[in-house]
Amino acid sequence: MAVKLDILAIGVHPDDVELGCSGVLLLEKAKGKKTGIIDLTQGELGSRGTIETRYAEAANAAMILAVSVRENLKMADGFFKNDEEHQRKLISIFRKYQPEIVITNALHDRHSDHGRASQLTEDAAYLSGLIKIKTTDEDGNDQAPWRPRYVFHYIQDRYIEPDFIVDITSVFEQRMESVKAYTTQFFNPENESDGPQTYISTPDFLDSVIARARMMGKKIGVKYGEGFNTKKNLGLNGFDSLVLVET
Ligand SMILES: [Zn+2]
Repeated sequence: MAVKLDILAIGVHPDDVELGCSGVLLLEKAKGKKTGIIDLTQGELGSRGTIETRYAEAANAAMILAVSVRENLKMADGFFKNDEEHQRKLISIFRKYQPEIVITNALHDRHSDHGRASQLTEDAAYLSGLIKIKTTDEDGNDQAPWRPRYVFHYIQDRYIEPDFIVDITSVFEQRMESVKAYTTQFFNPENESDGPQTYISTPDFLDSVIARARMMGKKIGVKYGEGFNTKKNLGLNGFDSLVLVET
């Protein structure tokens, strides 16, 4: 029996989750929630690093984030589709781990994989709740339908106005450690001969990651924040988790 997760984060490329929502994963983990990560592709089209180095980096980041599971679905980087075959792979994952909350790629972005993965996740999360769609687990056993209660989207390269922002100040250092675990992808002064310089491998890119978190934090009156989008209204149990500072 697979572990039941409270929160499942999905990223089309290894490192999307770290850049997008690792703060929330750390926060929820600290509260005793079970968290996990699904990478849709191996990021094999990335200009720097290899499939092997990216697996090692993803495993290191998973340790820093203390997630219960991290799986790679090995879809084709750049070329995967939002179609029945790919939806069924994700439906199987949702039914296996039964997450209450799914967090996935940005609604739309500079990299077109992000928007496509985001819609693929939404479609699969809905379909996963339909009893007449039959799927089986790795051992060939029938899976019960499961629909996550919420699908949230983190915000990636292109700015999107968030629907809500979470205060991640208390876990910000650990969050950055999980990003820096991708030593071949991001700037690392000890590792400069590791391939062509890319959009994300300059020191400026890491600065921009910090600046984004500061800006999101400022909007809610804290130091660092992570912003999210939701297509469904949020239901609150009360006002206890609201950040009550002047902004
Ligand atoms: Zn990506």
